[in-house]
Amino acid sequence: MIQVTVWVESDAAHLDESVLRVYPKGIAQTIADFLNTCGDISARAATLDDPHCGLDDEALRNTDVLLWWGHGRHDEVPDALVQRIYDRVMRGMGFIPLHSAHFSKPFIRLMGTTCSLQWREDDRERLWCVLPSHPIAEGFGGDFDYLDIPQEEMYGERFDIPQPDELVFIGWFRGGEVFRSGCCWYKGRGKVFYFQPGHETNPTYHIPEIQRILINAVRWAAPHVQDAPIDAPHAKIAPEKSFEK
Ligand code: ZN
Repeated sequence: MIQVTVWVESDAAHLDESVLRVYPKGIAQTIADFLNTCGDISARAATLDDPHCGLDDEALRNTDVLLWWGHGRHDEVPDALVQRIYDRVMRGMGFIPLHSAHFSKPFIRLMGTTCSLQWREDDRERLWCVLPSHPIAEGFGGDFDYLDIPQEEMYGERFDIPQPDELVFIGWFRGGEVFRSGCCWYKGRGKVFYFQPGHETNPTYHIPEIQRILINAVRWAAPHVQDAPIDAPHAKIAPEKSFEK
């Protein structure tokens, strides 16, 4: 089973009415619920208001893939937690920042850039799959190479990120803007997938194709090496017999 934590800054009890209309259980529980239908994923919701910000040492150590949604409370995330998340990614944990988590502390720490972008509310998006052979795009391709999202916030270039190792989705908006909406990076032994759709007052996470992308992303980001050491050992020359077939 892939152990997933879906972290958001506020749970349903603290959400605005405009968000609760779309996500009565909150965003984290909504995402955890559809991940938990897969059979190979065990997802739990966590929030900043939980003890230890929902991610004490044991919870983080037991997380294979961390999904992160934040918007207005990025600064409240303790720097010590950001460091622990960074260390876990270096050791193999998957990290999937969603939508406005482009400005989250862990994402900025992992990218090393400002992660700024252009934005406008009240738009729609055409999400193009540009790498149909990628595991995260499983289900796209062929005649189905884009997805129309009827309501989504516009995020536009330039997105101040390092060049993605793999670019899976590009978003187009009616103002003519484009955006690198689905980007992969390999960081240390871990994997990072940033996914742009998911404004809190839009029903984006209820769309089956969006759910499919996030399920694919969790499976892609799950570590193959668990909690690997990152300190390089003193290297010895391998005996020649290692090269023999
Ligand atoms: Zn938004």
